[in-house]
Amino acid sequence: MIVSNWKMNGTKADIELWINEVSNKIEYKTEVNCVICPPSCYLDSTRSFITKINSPVQLGSQEIDSTHQGALTGGINGQMLNDFSTEFVLIGHSEQRHYLNEDGVSLRAKLDSAIDSGISVIFCIGEPSEVYSNGDTKNFLTNQLDILNSEDLANITIAYEPIWAIGTGLSAKTTYIEDTHGFIKNHLKKILNNKKVSVVYGGSVKLNNAEEILSSDSVDGLLIGGASLDSETFSKIYNLS
Ligand code: PEP
Repeated sequence: MIVSNWKMNGTKADIELWINEVSNKIEYKTEVNCVICPPSCYLDSTRSFITKINSPVQLGSQEIDSTHQGALTGGINGQMLNDFSTEFVLIGHSEQRHYLNEDGVSLRAKLDSAIDSGISVIFCIGEPSEVYSNGDTKNFLTNQLDILNSEDLANITIAYEPIWAIGTGLSAKTTYIEDTHGFIKNHLKKILNNKKVSVVYGGSVKLNNAEEILSSDSVDGLLIGGASLDSETFSKIYNLS
C-alpha cells in the first residue's frame, strides 16, 4: 500500500490534476493499493474525480469521529464517509494525537466507528524523539498497540511513523525501520492470534530513500506526506513498490 496524506494542503483543482496524472503515470498493481487522503472538504469531489476516469486510486479520509451522529460541530461519521465510498481512514496520526489530545480511549472509539462502518483503518503509531533517544521505542509502541484486539485485524494496516521523522527530512535508517517493523509484527502476532498484519513506514519518505526502505521485507508500503503532493514524485515512488 502506498498512501498520500495531503494533510491541510492543496485545492480542489490540485487534487483533480493529481488524480489524473497519477492514474496515467503509475503502473498499477492490484496487490499494491494506491490511496489518497485529501482534506475532508474535498472527499466528495475526490471520489467524483476518481470515478470520472475510472482511476485505480482509492479514497482515504484523514478523519472519522467516534460518535455516530448528533451535536458535534465539525464532526464526520462513518455513514458520511460511506456516502462517497471512502475505503480507508487514518486513525492515530501523531498530529491528531498531539493537537486533539487523542488518547487510547478516544482512539479505540474511532477504531470501533470505522470498523462498524466497514472502512479499513490505517492505524498510525510512532515514538517522539526523547523516547527514541532513550532507546525506549518498543515499550512506547507496545502501549500504543495495546488498544487493538484480534477482531480488528482484518481491517487494519499499521503505519509506523517515528514522530521525529515526520516532516523533518530525517528519515529513520533502514536497519532501524526493519527492526521496529519486525517487533510490531511479532508483538501483534501474539495479541492477534498469530495472524499477519501489514506494516507501512512513514516519515520523510522521498524519492531518494523510498527504494531502499521498500527493499526491506518487513516494509509493506509507505505513508507519505510532503513528497506525495507532487504527482510525478508520488507516481515514481509507487512504481518502485
Ligand atoms: C505523514 O504525513 O504522515 C508523513 C509521514 O509526512 P512526511 O512524509 O512529510 O514526513
